[in-house]
Amino acid sequence: MRIFAIKGDIIFSETPQTLTIRPNAYAVCEDGLCAGVFDALPNRYAAIPVHDCTGRLVIPGLTDLHAHAPQYAFRALGMDMELLDWLDRQAFPQEARYADQDYARAAYTLFADDLRRSATTRAVLFGTLHVPATLTLMALLEQTGLVTRVGKVNMDRNGTDDLCEPSAAQSLRDTRRWLDACSDFTRCRPILTPRFLPSCTDELMRGLCALQRETGLPVQSHLSENQGEIAWVKELCPDAQGYGDAYDRFGLFGGDGCPTVMAHCVWSDEAERALMRERGVFIAHCPQSNTNLSSGAAPARVLLNEGQRIGLGSDVAGGAHLSILRAMADAIQVSKLHWRLNDPDAKPLTLPEAFWMATRGGGAFFGRVGAFEPGYEFDAVVLDDAALPCPFPLTPAERLARIVYLAEDRAVVHKYAAGTQLF
Ligand SMILES: [Zn+2]
Repeated sequence: MRIFAIKGDIIFSETPQTLTIRPNAYAVCEDGLCAGVFDALPNRYAAIPVHDCTGRLVIPGLTDLHAHAPQYAFRALGMDMELLDWLDRQAFPQEARYADQDYARAAYTLFADDLRRSATTRAVLFGTLHVPATLTLMALLEQTGLVTRVGKVNMDRNGTDDLCEPSAAQSLRDTRRWLDACSDFTRCRPILTPRFLPSCTDELMRGLCALQRETGLPVQSHLSENQGEIAWVKELCPDAQGYGDAYDRFGLFGGDGCPTVMAHCVWSDEAERALMRERGVFIAHCPQSNTNLSSGAAPARVLLNEGQRIGLGSDVAGGAHLSILRAMADAIQVSKLHWRLNDPDAKPLTLPEAFWMATRGGGAFFGRVGAFEPGYEFDAVVLDDAALPCPFPLTPAERLARIVYLAEDRAVVHKYAAGTQLF
């Protein structure tokens, strides 16, 4: 049995409203799982190795519930466009480059290295439609020790000449080939990934549903992100009662045995939100991307108060920053504008609420993840804020607030995912 402890100022969430702070305490890991947090090590743990991080903050690893790995290479470019233009003029031409394996390896190496160094321990990621490139990405992520889900993208309509699968049948054949080839990976597992409804024919959606039922794999896609996109879905699926219902008609919208993440949900109406709650669909809230692509402000307060399953996504490269520290600050800022401009009843998010989303909220997609509670998988990030000196004494909560609002990813000095130390 592998047992060890980390000693430091431990911070995690037990509820969305409060931070649990245990100064100078021990978080114990037993066989990859958290055994609890102790002010002094109990006798039974007297002889275990202790990673002494006294004076540093220790938080659960963060989860990025939505990002596009191939878009990391062109992050921060084309940020003056709106979603559908940006897809055609930036995202699609850039993703087409991943037909070239040398390019894919170089670009994905940069992505995997930076994700490894960040405060993120878990991520749910889009690849591209290319099987070899997606396998390269998965192999690189597997080596990092991070725990990830990666999807080979399915898209058989409304792409570009060099980024569109020729038929539903070919898309499904390639998906099976990809699943066979990645079956040995243990930390980087597959997730079915219809890009979004406008990219997938009915035949492809039906085929993916059959594959989902056969394999039990989770599903990720985009939902109610941008007004232009929603109008397009209405045109493409005139019979559906809404965007969510359009996925639901193909059996790809959560429910028993079909864990699902939908990115954005900026414009989901009451009926769509009720269906998400009923089906346990995870919402990846991506405030920076929603700002950059002029999509709007997702009603994070409403989603949280309704008891939706909600985490944060960087949505690289709609979001320019891979940092989930930054995503927490963005979520709070966007919630303030939403409250001031759109909905006076939607109180802005607090730091504890944003922290909860970044840890437990998104972590729940991976099971018992995102807190230092007994039985939770042991993901931990050690933060050193020595580079942010302050002339007066700060509490651990204040130190965390500075690291979050300043998106101080350089503060990450050690990281553990599922009990394994990455660095
Ligand atoms: Zn996205």
